[in-house]
Amino acid sequence: MDRPARKTSVASEATSEVSPARLVAILLGPPGAGKGTHADRVEAEYGVPHISTGDLLREHIAGGTELGRQVCGYMDRGELVPDQLIIDLVTERIGQPDAAGGFLLDGFPRTIQQAVALEELLQEKQTPLDVVVLLEVDEELLIARISGRYLCRQCGEDTNIAGLDSPPASCPYCGGELYQRADDRLETLEERLQIYRQQTAPLVEYYKGEGLLRWVDGAGSVEEVAERLIEALGAG
Ligand code: ADP
Ligand code: ZN
Repeated sequence: MDRPARKTSVASEATSEVSPARLVAILLGPPGAGKGTHADRVEAEYGVPHISTGDLLREHIAGGTELGRQVCGYMDRGELVPDQLIIDLVTERIGQPDAAGGFLLDGFPRTIQQAVALEELLQEKQTPLDVVVLLEVDEELLIARISGRYLCRQCGEDTNIAGLDSPPASCPYCGGELYQRADDRLETLEERLQIYRQQTAPLVEYYKGEGLLRWVDGAGSVEEVAERLIEALGAG
């Protein structure tokens, strides 16, 4: 692969034309690959919002909305939420003003049907997709990461107890109570990995065929992986 050049957003700012989107990208990868963690870094680097369908759905559940009620069963079981619900959610989200200059999708698309819907959506907006980055992590590491992930009820930060000799009994940031996401439990995790292999992994071929795919090794420190990711996104 050629060495990617980092994109700059400065060039278009001097003109009065509508500036092109800075970055329209998809972060693809199995559950536990670290998409959410790194996407926040990308958000800061490129100034585009990180749109995580998992986070959006969890907000609906926490807010007790109708959509939240419809999806929580699927999510707790580790199953995919029906395509149309997700497509509507994403359509609404990328139509918001902060997404006008681009966005980074995390957790969407997850099925070929969702990928086709996204393509139509982007065509309508005349915003081409720049790049799809596949964050690769082997399954052993995924399982260790996810089954060790705990969240704080008070501040929402996550803490990973994987490999720690004396895991913290409470949140290391604020002392709040730690809990595990229902779908992070080992039994449910196996189901999620299975669904990933069957329904989401085919997207790799799909985007490879469109010449949009880049690979990033997701093993290593958060800092290292984030650097690789930012570089790969610049290759779009
Ligand atoms: P992870 O990346 O750790 O698997 P997410 O937070 O992205 O978790 O998603 C959690 C759950 O939300 C999924 O297991 C699924 O039930 C639902 N979900 C999120 N995005 C989608 C999507 N694009 N299509 C269908 N279901 C989704
Ligand atoms: Zn906390």
